Amino acid sequence: MDGWNKATLKTLFLPGGLLLALAVLVVQARLLPFAPSVIAFYYLAAFLAGALLAWRFHSSRVLFALVTLLLAHRAVEFFAPGPPGAGRTALQIAAILVPLNFLDFALVRERGVTLAALVPRCGLLFLESVFVAVLCRPEETAPAFLHFAVFPQNWFAWSHIPQPGLILFSACGGILLLRYLMYRKPVESGLLWALAAFFLGLQAGVGAAARVYVGTAALILLTSIIENSYVLAYHDELTALPARRAFQDALLHLEEPYAIAAVDIDHFKSFNDTYGHDTGDQVLRMVATRLARVTGGGQAFRVGGEEFTILFPGKSMRDVVPHLELLRSVIEEASFLVRGGQERRANFSGPERRRATRRKAKTASIRGGRSQSNEELSVTVSIGVAEPSAKAKEIEQVIREADKALYRAKQAGRNQVATAITSRGRGKPAAGRTA
Ligand code: GH3
Ligand code: MG
Ligand code: MG
Repeated sequence: MDGWNKATLKTLFLPGGLLLALAVLVVQARLLPFAPSVIAFYYLAAFLAGALLAWRFHSSRVLFALVTLLLAHRAVEFFAPGPPGAGRTALQIAAILVPLNFLDFALVRERGVTLAALVPRCGLLFLESVFVAVLCRPEETAPAFLHFAVFPQNWFAWSHIPQPGLILFSACGGILLLRYLMYRKPVESGLLWALAAFFLGLQAGVGAAARVYVGTAALILLTSIIENSYVLAYHDELTALPARRAFQDALLHLEEPYAIAAVDIDHFKSFNDTYGHDTGDQVLRMVATRLARVTGGGQAFRVGGEEFTILFPGKSMRDVVPHLELLRSVIEEASFLVRGGQERRANFSGPERRRATRRKAKTASIRGGRSQSNEELSVTVSIGVAEPSAKAKEIEQVIREADKALYRAKQAGRNQVATAITSRGRGKPAAGRTA
């Protein structure tokens, strides 16, 4: 968990927090005197569009979150005009069941909209609906568990939701927030804000304000799916760096002066062969973390398997070489422990093992130092950097020049930064292992 920073706050509050804030503004300040038909349309459209998107994007968690909210709110509205106790009981049970269901959606793995995911959930929702219907019968008195009190009652005088509901809403909200901070997934923040919107809907009771809040909960879930598909398209899942599509977008806004660096891990194929693909993935994450923190105003992208590009808008090649040199040395110095490194290598046998060991032996850039059963590993990278010049005016040409410089860095022995050869001759790089 990286903790709180500007980017985390931005992705946590946008768009869910903003949508809820707008709904609060509209309801509290009576900004827009909507006709009931407009609110009914908003409510229905948000649920329908949300369910359709959740189904198309194979998100059973969001689909069932929508169905749960809809059923709970329909029950509250259905029982409200009946005997006075029934409406209150429906609302109080909804305040317990909705956070419990959301807790379940937060903790289960997404299994897509498959029969195996649908059947148990539909069964559970059916049982919950029967439970609500039975407890809300006119002759039924409100069950004691609804009014179970842990804290003094006067602490919660501001809410007509009983303590079990309030405690569950808070606990579920806390867990969703924690999960968001751990995984940074839009669906996690969507569930959190939708739960908050539904809570405000229950607080508002029955009527237009409650419908605006519950409709907004559905809208928040809908936008979380859109946000999720954006993240999938523009971010690399393994390293969390912006991906090739984001790189292509960034190129559209790039204006001279700028510098582009191509980064490639040295002897990575041998690394995979020796330590396995999973350890290779760990290396990619480690390298990506260092690339994401590149200094000099650069932004790193994962453009291929173990190939990365760094864009430096507004900078010349000469400006960025010291930053790239620092990056290269930071990666060279960084090491990480592979659990059971010796055992992992022992898994290679026969020709496989001989090949891996031989390759490792001739691979100077992969260093290994053992400590008990863990193995300390590190890798190096080669970097080629270019800027627009008389020879390379277009962005594609500058990228090609950076690739050529990278090739020269590899040829010159790897673990170094090489600058493109411009019409003025090769740029004079700063001190360090620069070709
Ligand atoms: P060089 O120093 O010349 O770059 O040698 P190299 O072995 O790194 O050669 P190259 O850059 O062509 O290697 C690409 C390798 O990267 C092939 C593949 O095994 C590995 N690779 C690509 N994508 C992934 C990935 O997502 N995960 C892992 N673990 N390995 C990957
Ligand atoms: Mg490569
Ligand atoms: Mg490589």
